[in-house]
Amino acid sequence: MSKDLIDVLVPIPLLERFSYKLPEELKKKNLERGMRIKIPFGNRLLVGIFWNYSDPSRNNRSSYKFIKEVIDETSLLEKKLLNLAEWASRYYHYPLGEVITYFFPPSLRKGKKAKFKESTFWQVTEKGDFIDLSGLGRAPNQRKGLELLREKGDLSQHSLKAFGVSRVSLNHLHNKGLVKKRSQEQFPVYSPEIQYSYKKLLTSEQKEAVKTISGAKGDNKIFLLNGVTGSGKTEVYLRCIKELVQKGKQALVLIPEIGLAPQAENRFKELFGDRVASFHSAKNERERLDVWLGAQKGLYDIVIGTRSSVFIPMKKLGIIIVDEEHDVSFKQSDRFRYSARDVALYRAKLYKVPVLLASATPSVESMQNALKGKYKLLNLKERATGADLPTFFPLDLKGKLLKEGFSDELLEAVKVELKKKNQVLIFLNRRGYASSLICKSCGWVSCCNRCDAHMTVHSNPSQLHCHHCENKKPLPSACPSCLDREFESFGLGTERVESYLRKKFKNYPVLRIDSDTTRQKESFKNYLEIIAEGDPLILIGTQMLAKGHHFPNVTLVGILDADSGLFSADFRGSERVAQLITQVSGRAGREKKPGKVVLQTYCSEHPQMEELLKGNYGTFIEKIIEERASANVPPFSYQVKLQAESFNGLISKDFLNSCLEHINNSKLITKDIRLVGPLPSLMEKKSGMFRWEVNLFSKSRKPLHKLIDNLQTFLYQSKQTRQVRWSIDVDPISTI
Ligand code: ADP
Ligand code: ZN
Ligand code: ZN
Repeated sequence: MSKDLIDVLVPIPLLERFSYKLPEELKKKNLERGMRIKIPFGNRLLVGIFWNYSDPSRNNRSSYKFIKEVIDETSLLEKKLLNLAEWASRYYHYPLGEVITYFFPPSLRKGKKAKFKESTFWQVTEKGDFIDLSGLGRAPNQRKGLELLREKGDLSQHSLKAFGVSRVSLNHLHNKGLVKKRSQEQFPVYSPEIQYSYKKLLTSEQKEAVKTISGAKGDNKIFLLNGVTGSGKTEVYLRCIKELVQKGKQALVLIPEIGLAPQAENRFKELFGDRVASFHSAKNERERLDVWLGAQKGLYDIVIGTRSSVFIPMKKLGIIIVDEEHDVSFKQSDRFRYSARDVALYRAKLYKVPVLLASATPSVESMQNALKGKYKLLNLKERATGADLPTFFPLDLKGKLLKEGFSDELLEAVKVELKKKNQVLIFLNRRGYASSLICKSCGWVSCCNRCDAHMTVHSNPSQLHCHHCENKKPLPSACPSCLDREFESFGLGTERVESYLRKKFKNYPVLRIDSDTTRQKESFKNYLEIIAEGDPLILIGTQMLAKGHHFPNVTLVGILDADSGLFSADFRGSERVAQLITQVSGRAGREKKPGKVVLQTYCSEHPQMEELLKGNYGTFIEKIIEERASANVPPFSYQVKLQAESFNGLISKDFLNSCLEHINNSKLITKDIRLVGPLPSLMEKKSGMFRWEVNLFSKSRKPLHKLIDNLQTFLYQSKQTRQVRWSIDVDPISTI
């Protein structure tokens, strides 16, 4: 093959690969697939990825641009990772040039060198060794620097600073030719021997799980660890990883949310010390690059990270663990719509390593895979601390008078727990003060003019806020429709519950924890510290509080509105409610004191609700699985959602119709494929755009993907796409 032209992946959402010319001096170099190169693109300079030398017969353009620079000496991504990228691009139908960028941390995407943080070291030159120090008499700091360097030979800028020698002085010495400097990469350091001083005795269920998982030597086995809240799943991860680390392997641990990172990191550090590193968006670019390089070179044994960490290179990967595998945040909801859990499964298959999916509330699809025998199911039915699971008290609200959403019974229960010096958690998955503002005389409602949604009333600062498009408006002083001035706030939000509880329980702290109160970097951590002190208090929170946290002193969880989401038009709605309720309930009574959960509901006779109200997530999920089977929806069929949005709903609809026409003409529809739509999306108007969708369901994956492949080519070529924004979502999970 001639080495004149190369094919390059360019980080833009287009399907084609672009060809570039190699300058003469680079033709001798052996380029490897995956190496980063700088290329001119339009009037910009981009970082692309070398893919292969071009096949000259395929390239018929007359002029090509020269690449500017080859950044890497070798490819930073090994072959299996490049295969993973190709697979993900094919499976999620997203351009490879964009997909491959997910494998690099931000600074490498920008073209920076793949090096650890560098520090400067100083030494004296020959001239500096012989010069008479009195010549520096008027520059005492320089003199001190030179003296120190003569004495010690070689010192880092950092240690010189500790001796009081400034960088300015060193630069002066440098300019005089008396000292020289060099840069050195700071490789991560850790104690060569791990001191496992850790002596928690495993419960028999934990032991059994560890034994089974550790038995999967070098096999691509998939385990589903279904362990009730507080059953010590983390302990199981730690032990499995310990065995692997002793054999020189690495573990990749995926967690759903950045808020859980510090807690998880601390638990792992207790056992593994500085061999643990974490990777998430709260780290700066420098830190992320260092962790990435450490993982890639096999210098960290354990990497804990959020969604995108599933792409981090690991030199000696031995296991992938997906904590809270059911969590929706593992799925990216825009652009490259991948599921980190599913990518993890494929990655483990490529690397022939086991995967451990874990949750107290496994997703319907994983549960179904376990029932089918595709995954090995491991149950932890008891709490590890010996504590009982909380007792559930369903509270039928029919005919009851509520005060700001609270029944007398729930208020009484709160009072009793606080008196016993316990902590209470009130769960409401709606932030803000009230869900809408209504005019008392004409019934005007605060709707968002850009979305099919009400604007939420917020009290601090006082304003209307659309949670779907971030549209904000001041509260109206008069009704825009009838000019009357009397309004009613309708529906409960966490701010409203907070202000009510503050008045009601004056002697106790009330902490509201939702994305409004935890926007600042450290605030969530501060809240967790207050809770950890253990004094009686009331927590009010959204789903942020439901996930994974261990609050030993919370003995009562009050769920204000257990029904919300149950009647959603989304067939996944009830699964989500069940997960949330079970997870948040699991925060109660995790240590010595028994826990109680009070669930306020209007539908205690609802057949699904019955199981949930008794705390039987397992039975609930079995019922959902039956329902899904009879409706032929995932996991009993594969789904792809094609969505189009534009300033006019008719354009979106027409566009989808032309896609359907293309699909029909392609003759790729088999009898297993079912098409639904075009229909307006559940929330048709969002951020001023009108969204329509077509859903494709298929009993088998292959014909569906073949059809979407064909459609994808059409979509990238279609002239109409200038008027619409479209997306392909494989295995979608959200309907909004
Ligand atoms: P999960 O993740 O399953 O909800 P955790 O791993 O957070 O549960 O464990 C819950 C609590 O139980 C933690 O405080 C943990 O230290 C403790 N724990 C776990 N395993 C054991 C054990 N074998 N013996 C005693 N305590 C344990
Ligand atoms: Zn009015
Ligand atoms: Zn809006």
